[in-house]
Amino acid sequence: MQQIPQDPQEILEHVFGYTEFRGAQAEVIDTLMSDRDALVLMPTGGGKSLCYQIPALARPGCGVVISPLIALMQDQVEALQAAGVKAAFLNSSLPFDQVQNIEGALLRGELDLLYMAPERLLQPRSLDLLSRIQLSLFAIDEAHCVSQWGHDFRADYLQLNCLHEQFPTVPRIALTATADQRTRAEIAQRLDLQAAEHFVSSFDRPNIQYRIAQKDNPRRQLLQFLRAEQQGNAGVVYCLSRAKVESTAEWLRQQGFNALPYHAGLPAQVRAEHQRRFLREEGVIVVATIAFGMGIDKPDVRFVAHLDLPKSVEAYYQETGRAGRDGEASTALLLYGLEDVVKLGQMADSSDGSEEHKRQERARLNAMLGLCEITSCRRQSLLRYFGEELAEPCGNCDTCLEPPQTWDGTQAAAKLLSCVYRTGQRFGAAHVIDVLRGSENEKVRKFGHDRVTTYGIGKDLSANEWRGVVRQLVVRAYIEVEGEFQSLRLTEACRPLLRGEESIQLRKLPPKAKSSRAEGRKSAAPAELLPADEPLWDALRACRKQLADAQGVPPYVVFHDA
Ligand code: ADP
Ligand code: MG
Repeated sequence: MQQIPQDPQEILEHVFGYTEFRGAQAEVIDTLMSDRDALVLMPTGGGKSLCYQIPALARPGCGVVISPLIALMQDQVEALQAAGVKAAFLNSSLPFDQVQNIEGALLRGELDLLYMAPERLLQPRSLDLLSRIQLSLFAIDEAHCVSQWGHDFRADYLQLNCLHEQFPTVPRIALTATADQRTRAEIAQRLDLQAAEHFVSSFDRPNIQYRIAQKDNPRRQLLQFLRAEQQGNAGVVYCLSRAKVESTAEWLRQQGFNALPYHAGLPAQVRAEHQRRFLREEGVIVVATIAFGMGIDKPDVRFVAHLDLPKSVEAYYQETGRAGRDGEASTALLLYGLEDVVKLGQMADSSDGSEEHKRQERARLNAMLGLCEITSCRRQSLLRYFGEELAEPCGNCDTCLEPPQTWDGTQAAAKLLSCVYRTGQRFGAAHVIDVLRGSENEKVRKFGHDRVTTYGIGKDLSANEWRGVVRQLVVRAYIEVEGEFQSLRLTEACRPLLRGEESIQLRKLPPKAKSSRAEGRKSAAPAELLPADEPLWDALRACRKQLADAQGVPPYVVFHDA
């Protein structure tokens, strides 16, 4: 085996084959070389691994890397071994004799890097083992797992502060691609890293083109995008539910794409196989829930598409960040609609946790919606969310490339708000829109809403356009969506608008994507209620049924089933 050099620059060249350090790498390495702790925030693909791998090689003793995912450990260790580094991992997937081999090598001082899952490290047997050898450093990768606010929370990470107590002289480095200040503060506090050097890189990913579009016919929209721009490319399609993951993957396969499902409900074997194929084969599309992705190091992911709204800006940034780690042009496409707002709102409200927690979840969702509805540069807005200012509009997002058209929505907003008020602030968007458009359905009649002053005053806009108005007013906090039935309610913020003291510019809806399926159904449903988006109709049907059940009357069936 080759002799590993002792100098970081030489290690960079001779072991890893690169000529220059990137970004903050050199400084971070320097910090660890001089026995100090570091907290590193760098975007995905920024090069966090070298920040601990190089000092682990340059310093005497073995470096211990704590990493949350077994598959990830295995990949990294194989890559290191191929580069001639004495690296190994210990986790629950190994047979006992291999564990003994690795422990032996460790005690003989033959390892430079040892990867472990946190629960493994925290076992008394492991801690005892580590206390008997020389350690070069502890690296805590994916350190945001310590944060209870994120969706990657791992209880074991909380106990990692014991490392500091048990091994006070071993330098520690924590790394994450999660940028927000709150998570960062939480990591520093929980891992006892307040005194560490903090390295915060720019989170801009200039090669990712951000595009956010309203859902019209999401499958159709996705298909157009894939066919026109992503033939043969690898990518990830995120959906909110497991069922939707399965059906979308199946449908993409029927359309001739090499698509594989991935979610936590699939057997571990299947998941591992799909992940492996995504990494090794060309042009695989993984359709997944958020269970997929943390730490997946595939450089040439050309697109990330979201068919449902992520529940926070952090999640959106993390998930889209899986595209383009190689620095080549990539696209992040998000399709969202009113039903996402309703669904995620319900999830936030029904999540266990305190009122404060629910309020936080709502606030995060609203920030995400704000990003969807802005008419200025998306990247500026995204980075501002993480406390970073981008001087100029980026020129590489949909709002820069095709500035959205707006219209004066003051009158429409006033009509909607009045109608919400006149119908008693206890109905959902669908019903209010029915009233505005003068629909003659049974429910409108039953509640006498065909006699309110706002009945039929909104025939100038289609139901779809009205949904756009509702969504934008929700995002701007003129309306709240509340309770089990997602009823619309006015907020204080809408007073100036109702008094005519304020005007409002709304985003124009894009022209509808053509759908042959929808056309075929024209005879079955009123034109503006075409089932362009099934989940919305399902959700509305379910809402209506709930309402009907609660009131002991038969469900209203106003939509024609396919
Ligand atoms: P992160 O963990 O921050 O997401 P990685 O450590 O996995 O990023 O690195 C991402 C990619 O960048 C890898 O392919 C890695 O080999 C490459 N890389 C890292 N540092 C350098 C460098 N100094 N020069 C060239 N490539 C680098
Ligand atoms: Mg990494």
